[in-house]
Amino acid sequence: QRTIRAGIVGYGNLGRSVEKLVQQQPDMELVGIFSRRDSLETETSVFPVAQASEYADQIDVLFLCLGSATDIPEQAPGFAENFTTVDTYDNHTLIPQHRKAMDEAAKKGGNVALISTGWDPGMFSLNRTMGEAFFPKAQQNSFWGTGLSQGHSDAVRRVEGVKYGVQYTVPATDAIEAARAGKGENINKYEAHERRCYIVAEESEHERIRETIVTMPDYFEPYKTEVNFISEEEFLRDHQGMPHGGRVITTGDLEGSRATIEYSLDLEANPDFTAAVQVAYGRAAARLAAEGRTGAVTVLEVPPYLLSPTSLDELVERDI
Ligand code: NDP
Repeated sequence: QRTIRAGIVGYGNLGRSVEKLVQQQPDMELVGIFSRRDSLETETSVFPVAQASEYADQIDVLFLCLGSATDIPEQAPGFAENFTTVDTYDNHTLIPQHRKAMDEAAKKGGNVALISTGWDPGMFSLNRTMGEAFFPKAQQNSFWGTGLSQGHSDAVRRVEGVKYGVQYTVPATDAIEAARAGKGENINKYEAHERRCYIVAEESEHERIRETIVTMPDYFEPYKTEVNFISEEEFLRDHQGMPHGGRVITTGDLEGSRATIEYSLDLEANPDFTAAVQVAYGRAAARLAAEGRTGAVTVLEVPPYLLSPTSLDELVERDI
């Protein structure tokens, strides 16, 4: 089978993780990285993103590793016109809109746009759909964490006097137990998650900073929030990673018996796992495009064997 020629757009946390994982694939080669910046710290070839379309014939799949807030809505359809793409767009409420824009662009260019891969959306979406499908009446809950929230960490760092700060989202154990027992119908996300902050600041500022954080509307105010002040040394030692994870729990009655399905993730580094899923779906996107498929495709529509570098015959023998 032919080697899949890959490109990356955007070299942040996700782009760096995709770079190292593409290099580990038996059936992929990395052509280059497209960035808005002139130079990046990498051994891989770097090209100006403005000239990306000139490389269309040399790339089978383009990994869009741009930010979801504004980059993806503004730029992704432009890439989909010229390349088969895979993104991790995670603004859940706007995914239907993104799908429509990517579908039009990808069809125009005769490409595949595999949208919203990663873990949530992505693997969690797949498990929500599969879980729900097995029960006449399913009870389903998603929990996130323990994990570092980028947005909430930025919010605590903006509080005056905070030298360093991070925020972890922690799911409530009793809510998880209730979900497993099929009693999750009234769980709301405020009760089901706590926010835990680790802050470095002058001691005289601690009370004011704590008060500002716990009363911050939307970000912290409806949640149970814990603010811990720690030393700079402890912060630099223990809070540099990007751990995350979570679980989708589905339970239901099967006309006389109950069954529970739980899909859980425990990730030491969020970008690495998000990239791992994106790379596997990149393989699927290239294969779908080679078969002549065009338009936007979601994780729900991809046959699982297309994710694997192993042949279908071997997978059937090994895994079924
Ligand atoms: P980053 O903020 O690290 O990178 C986003 C973009 O910013 C990059 O593509 C890069 O573009 C630019 N950039 C990065 N670092 C710098 C820098 N030092 N100076 C200037 N520009 C920089 O975001 P992440 O890689 O962490 O995340 C990307 C997206 O992945 C997120 O927006 C999130 O939505 C999504 N995600 C999805 C998940 C899922 O499960 N579906 C899970 C986790 C994340 P350029 O190279 O062009 O400058």
